[in-house]
Amino acid sequence: MYKMTCGHGENAESCQFCLSEQITNQKLEIQQLKTKLELEEQRRSDTLKGLDDLQKLAENTVLDYKKEIAQLKEESAQLRKNLDSEIDFVDHILGKMDYLEKRVESCSPEAEYKQKLLEAEVAFWGSDWGEDGRAWDAQGNIIKENYLGIHLCLLLNDTFYYASADAETVPNGMVKRVWEIYEKWGFDGLLAWAALRRKEQPLKPLITDKYKEAYASLEKEMTSSDYNIRDAL
Ligand SMILES: [Zn+2]
Repeated sequence: MYKMTCGHGENAESCQFCLSEQITNQKLEIQQLKTKLELEEQRRSDTLKGLDDLQKLAENTVLDYKKEIAQLKEESAQLRKNLDSEIDFVDHILGKMDYLEKRVESCSPEAEYKQKLLEAEVAFWGSDWGEDGRAWDAQGNIIKENYLGIHLCLLLNDTFYYASADAETVPNGMVKRVWEIYEKWGFDGLLAWAALRRKEQPLKPLITDKYKEAYASLEKEMTSSDYNIRDAL
């Protein structure tokens, strides 16, 4: 029977040297595997730690954002509050302005058009006792007896009568209309308007073509209130 002989000249199956070499080799291999395993474990641990760090970072970031959002909410609430109070303030001012404008308007209705007529030097502020000392409102109701009024008056000296100081009151509520008449026909228009109100004609030399045109046009346009409204000032 053939026997295997090892490099040590021993029976290969029972050689102490071969066996010892094999054990040494296996120990080495085990050592290498252990090292590899340790490395793997280290890598795994590092990875887990990295994940843990990432999670912590994410949690902290979320917390930071939540904090920031809460702060922004608080700030926007404060801004909204400030804005509301500013809106209230503006409303208050607007209300006051509106009130003051109404006061001004009630003190002198159609003030803008009165000013225009005064600047055109066709009117002046005149004071008188009113017709039979009565004051009327815009609807023609008597609001005061024995009344001394200040009125916007058209200058009509020497227009209806020679050598006269004369004026025609422009009642409130009609000032704008009178201004429009002046814009369209000039003084001839004002004269025609006064003539219609008075139901009398001015002096002959003042009855021009323009006057006649204004008179004819206004006569068609004027309503009974145009004739009857008296000044309420
Ligand atoms: Zn051997």
